[in-house]
Amino acid sequence: MIPAPFAYARPSTVDEALQAVASGGEDVKILAGGQSLIPVMRLRLAAPETVVDLTRVAELRGVRDDGDAIVIGAMTTHSDVLSDPLIKQYAPLIAEATETVADRQVRHRGTFGGALAHADPAGDLPAVALALDAEFVIAGSGGRRTVPAADFFVDYLTTALEEGEILVEIRVPKREGWGMHYEKFNRVAQAWSIVAVAAAVRREGGRIAEARIGLTNMGPTPIRASGVEEALTGADATAEAVAAAAARAAEGTSPSSDLNAQADYRQHLVTVLTRRAVTAAAGL
Ligand SMILES: Cc1cc2nc3c(=O)[nH]c(=O)nc-3n(C[C@H](O)[C@H](O)[C@H](O)COP(=O)(O)OP(=O)(O)OC[C@H]3O[C@@H](n4cnc5c(N)ncnc54)[C@H](O)[C@@H]3O)c2cc1C
Repeated sequence: MIPAPFAYARPSTVDEALQAVASGGEDVKILAGGQSLIPVMRLRLAAPETVVDLTRVAELRGVRDDGDAIVIGAMTTHSDVLSDPLIKQYAPLIAEATETVADRQVRHRGTFGGALAHADPAGDLPAVALALDAEFVIAGSGGRRTVPAADFFVDYLTTALEEGEILVEIRVPKREGWGMHYEKFNRVAQAWSIVAVAAAVRREGGRIAEARIGLTNMGPTPIRASGVEEALTGADATAEAVAAAAARAAEGTSPSSDLNAQADYRQHLVTVLTRRAVTAAAGL
């Protein structure tokens, strides 16, 4: 299939990109790695008037240290995320989840910001961003604003990004001394998650001091497993305590039923995957 005709802009700065978006007409689409947008355009499910390609905007690529946070440029590819030393040191959960995203070809083109802006419920990175308390820096004609992960994912394929805005970078608080693990269930290697769990745990000796759990594909947006977090806080770091807490993982979830799994199966699966993820993150 061939996409419908569109105008094309290839800016080299964020300011130029914002101008291109503002002057692009009724329906403007940002192009990052194109791994989700191009298939949708080829199927003509999207037919934007203008496509603004961010691939030449160098300031949107790379990872930097910013004191108590690391900052990941929206156009940093999945491959670059995987080899980045700051991510490895301060947010290894991101690298672990990214390693499960698709195949090498897709990871070479696809971007961290594109995957978050796309907000697919089965996408692996939104739940990770939520678990790690990431903040989203968004540029628009009126300047920049910062949105916490808890407010960024609004609905199915829908984020807090407004028309004319560009996701610029993602700030991730440094978490030294935390154990982290991403547990993904899919039927074949390199496929999307049927369900997945992102866990970050801080231990103090034999107890769990803090836990943050994000769930993938358990509703239209990623969600925190608050019941599990509450049960783990202050609990003994034992297999029994983790299993009891993980039994609450389906609380407040609303997964869909599809060809891969019925909703009740997903609600069972999430308790199993949460137990595995927390067990690994807590080093048990
Ligand atoms: C075969 C295949 C398998 C995949 N498997 C997985 C998987 O297992 N797990 C997983 O998580 N993902 C998977 N993906 C998706 C992959 O992670 C994509 O890279 C991602 O969904 C989109 O990133 P992109 O950079 O290609 O964005 P694009 O396709 O270019 O853009 C996606 C959407 O986000 C918008 N957008 C992009 N960047 C910005 C920005 N800076 N500001 C505002 N809006 C923006 C675009 O306008 C578009 O609507 C798979 C993709 C393919 C093709």
